[in-house]
Amino acid sequence: MQNRVLEGKTAVVTGGTRGIGKAIALKLADLGANIVINYRSSGKVVEEVIKEIEDKGVRVIAVQGDVSNFKEAENIVKSAIDAFKSLDILVNNAGITADGLIMRMKEEDFDKVIQVNLKGAFNCIKHTTPYMIKQRYGKIINISSVVGITGNAGQSNYAAAKAGIIGLTKSVARELAARGVNVNAVAPGFIQTDMTEVLSDKVKEASLNNIPLKKFGKPEDIGEVVAFLASDKSSYITGQVINVDGGMVI
Ligand code: NAD
Repeated sequence: MQNRVLEGKTAVVTGGTRGIGKAIALKLADLGANIVINYRSSGKVVEEVIKEIEDKGVRVIAVQGDVSNFKEAENIVKSAIDAFKSLDILVNNAGITADGLIMRMKEEDFDKVIQVNLKGAFNCIKHTTPYMIKQRYGKIINISSVVGITGNAGQSNYAAAKAGIIGLTKSVARELAARGVNVNAVAPGFIQTDMTEVLSDKVKEASLNNIPLKKFGKPEDIGEVVAFLASDKSSYITGQVINVDGGMVI
């Protein structure tokens, strides 16, 4: 039996039906939190995740919505509060890539990655903050990336958004610290999900050579760290970026 340290808490996880988001939602449910999973497009996978979370003995709702849309982000947050009468943990996980070298990158590919990966996090934070300030309690965890720290050829849009997430995290952490709200970021390295599955074997091999621990990460590796940041075990930590990357960035 897990120690249910998040019993009675409500957590929103954006992009929570697969990959890292799903692992985060399942881990928070293991610890007893009620879960709101946000998803962009419906399908059988949503029903399956709901069932998996319910099997952990917590309550769960799924809310469709595009985080890059200000109104839809508001609806995600409102649905959580309507359903559970509280919102204690927000995990901004939803993200996309549209890779390409700067010489070839289309303006719309730059815009859409910033819009989802950076503005999406802003939108959810913006709608969540008044509620967390009022209850004088909250944990906001933003999923950045190591490329937001190091940059990456072919990912200027994505790296800019993920670096932006770090600036957003640190600024909001400073603003909300006195209000009982902790704001931190997790920067994954190379994690095996649908997002990285599409990369060529050459890129995967080059990445592996860059990882001192000599293995790719699993979504659960991120879930564990997010769970720590979502709990009161990390109550003296705010404004930090925690790399979970097998030593890629030391
Ligand atoms: P993934 O593609 O498997 O999952 C991303 C999820 O976000 C999907 O469920 C997708 O539907 C959802 N999503 C995308 N756009 C959305 C929108 N506008 N509104 C709502 N939901 C939306 O990818 P993943 O690897 O699980 O990535 C999760 C997060 O971790 C992303 O922010 C990603 O940038 C970050 N990350 C991943 C890695 C990695 O190696 N996989 C590394 C660093 C950071």
